[in-house]
Amino acid sequence: MIAPGRAIGVLGGGQLGRMFAQAAQDMGYRVHVFEPSCPCPAGAVSDRETCAPFDDLAALESFARTVDVATYEFENIPAGPLRAVEGVVPLLPPSSVLHICQNRTREKAWLKANGFPHARYAEALDGNIEAAAAEVGIPCVVKTADFGYDGKGQMRIASPQDLVQASAIFRGRRCVVEQWVDFEREISVICARTQGGESRTFPVSENIHTNHILDISIVPARISAEVDARARALAVEVAERLGVVGLVAVEMFLSTWGEVLVNEIAPRPHNSGHWTMDGCETSQFAQHVRAICGLPLGPTGIRSPTVMVNILGDAWRRPGGALAEPNWEALLAEPRARLHLYGKPEPRPGRKMGHFTVQAPSAAEALEVALALKSML
Ligand code: ADP
Ligand code: MG
Repeated sequence: MIAPGRAIGVLGGGQLGRMFAQAAQDMGYRVHVFEPSCPCPAGAVSDRETCAPFDDLAALESFARTVDVATYEFENIPAGPLRAVEGVVPLLPPSSVLHICQNRTREKAWLKANGFPHARYAEALDGNIEAAAAEVGIPCVVKTADFGYDGKGQMRIASPQDLVQASAIFRGRRCVVEQWVDFEREISVICARTQGGESRTFPVSENIHTNHILDISIVPARISAEVDARARALAVEVAERLGVVGLVAVEMFLSTWGEVLVNEIAPRPHNSGHWTMDGCETSQFAQHVRAICGLPLGPTGIRSPTVMVNILGDAWRRPGGALAEPNWEALLAEPRARLHLYGKPEPRPGRKMGHFTVQAPSAAEALEVALALKSML
């Protein structure tokens, strides 16, 4: 066990690292953040910050020597840097897990090889989108194999003209072409797993994406007991097969024909788990600390139905294009709402600046209040 008072290293200094650091510090841990672009949201609240690029292996090694265990909040870290850390101190979840999840081709192949239900896909070798699209059929979506997040590096293809355009855009890049899934809902399950192999899931979150970016999470999800059980079982199976120690978030589609398909896997805290900070017995960040430090896992019961709304940089844009501070006063005047901001200075469109949650006796009521607050921001 890595006892409270010891030091945890985090690779990546974004909002996930920030909320992780805060949870770790609440439990008495010291936190050392490694981030290439400083100042950063996590560095601002950590005990120590190293500002160096991920290919600075010497900096990574010295960073690793100051901590008792290391983790990451950012997925696009190459294998070399991960090995540099792993050679000095335990890195959890193991780099082998990150290696699979950080690349869509490997991730899809892993899902297929392990028999997990997923959308039909084909690899576009040498950027040959046409051949891959012919294989899976139109409509479909092209996703770059590397460095995709929040819908970046994605294009939906609904017509032959789209296909021509996509071929030009993605020329020479490694891509996956995936069947467009007609879904009833998108859901996700976050599962914590310990070194000893104990797994514990958080309640299923229902997720609404706008422009491929998570917009709203609703808990409890509006799904049947069967789908709930199926989704949780899938997440546990993913955690076990991958050998996760820490958290893994599994994004899924509930298709219109009733099947639960795995969309994406992230071996870290996840945006769709932010509701746990206010609505669950244990937050996802505290659970991640517990799992990687070998502490007992916390309970994951729902404290209150909760709706989480992401606050993007767009909330600063006024009609006509002027920039103005969102209406925090309206939000903070609502006793059922809680605001979380990540301390990012520049409200760029699409950038995750913060989120808020609303607790109410039912998810329907929480959603109603949340949507009203969102429109007032
Ligand atoms: P990322 O979250 O890394 O940007 P995802 O693959 O999760 O990438 O895609 C983002 C969102 O785009 C999904 O949550 C979903 O709303 C939509 N999407 C992605 N792939 C599909 C698909 N095959 N069918 C339908 N919607 C999709
Ligand atoms: Mg996703």
